[in-house]
Amino acid sequence: MEKKNYQYQHTLSRIKECVQKENDFLITTHVNPDGDSIASVLLFASILKHFGKRYIILLDDQIPEKFDFLSGVNEIVRFQKETYSFQPRVVVVLDASGLDRIGKVEDIIPPKALIINIDHHTSNVMFGKFNAIAPEKSSAVEIIYELFVLCNAPLSKEIATFVYTGIMCDTGRFLFPNTTYQSLSICAEMVKYGASPSIIARNIYQRMSPETLKALAKALSTLEFHFDGVVSSIYLPNDILSSNGKIDTEGFVDHLMAVKESEVQFFMLEKEPNHFRVSFRSKEYVDVNKIAKQFNGGGHIRAAGCNIDGTVDEIKNRILEVLKKHLPNK
Ligand code: AMP
Ligand code: MN
Ligand code: MN
Repeated sequence: MEKKNYQYQHTLSRIKECVQKENDFLITTHVNPDGDSIASVLLFASILKHFGKRYIILLDDQIPEKFDFLSGVNEIVRFQKETYSFQPRVVVVLDASGLDRIGKVEDIIPPKALIINIDHHTSNVMFGKFNAIAPEKSSAVEIIYELFVLCNAPLSKEIATFVYTGIMCDTGRFLFPNTTYQSLSICAEMVKYGASPSIIARNIYQRMSPETLKALAKALSTLEFHFDGVVSSIYLPNDILSSNGKIDTEGFVDHLMAVKESEVQFFMLEKEPNHFRVSFRSKEYVDVNKIAKQFNGGGHIRAAGCNIDGTVDEIKNRILEVLKKHLPNK
């Protein structure tokens, strides 16, 4: 076995030992939770349940409504400092490249807590005592599933549904280059155990609120092409976003990938006036993790994000300037 893979397998075994030995776990994931991160916390919780451990799942953000079909999602607690008293011995951070990605939950990690870090971001900064990092995996849930198998935890339809959902979401419905033989094989296995691709897809992709579809229409109406169509961008202004709490913008940026010539796509979401969250995607040759890093963000080669302050035109121009240096002949 090559050294890196040996190390990864060894870390998974050490995490298993830690889970068997310790008690009082806090499980968390990144802000703006997506399908992979939610599936990851639920799957990890199922391992702890299997071993009869005490745990709490605590997230800084609210869970988007579309995930309410996942069993156990009501167990997830939203962070509120005032009401919080649980003292974890182990903190499990999933699908997050650094502790700065878990929002306010970072502030309540006891100094002596053991940190388990399981992730597939290239930009992961190895902040744990145990770091199971595998950028070649489709999703964090794929790694946690390996741990689940190692722990001989029993599969059920509910658990199979977590795993399938996490992989489906992070591969962009099995379209992105992280759609591998392994990720598809795991999904096929999950279907054998009762996960329903059509029910899951209906829940995640066909339950948009009318407000979200209108917001998507509005965002797409801002579409611009740059550098002869190699880059495309959209934005959504804060007045639309804040006018209705039911707007879920996950996946908006993916629509820009439909155009053949478009290599890099970015979506500027105005979360607060003059404060934007930017989502980047790329198809073949631009490493958007590097682009996001220029703005103190990160992610993967083909999907990354960052936060930038300024007006929409200011930040668009700053991004285009950085992108120009990463495009051949521009
Ligand atoms: P998104 O565009 O929100 O779907 O994010 C794409 C990828 O980039 C995900 O894997 C995120 O975890 C990661 N990401 C998004 N925003 C940030 C950020 N500010 N810092 C680091 N990674 C990020
Ligand atoms: Mn994620
Ligand atoms: Mn992920």
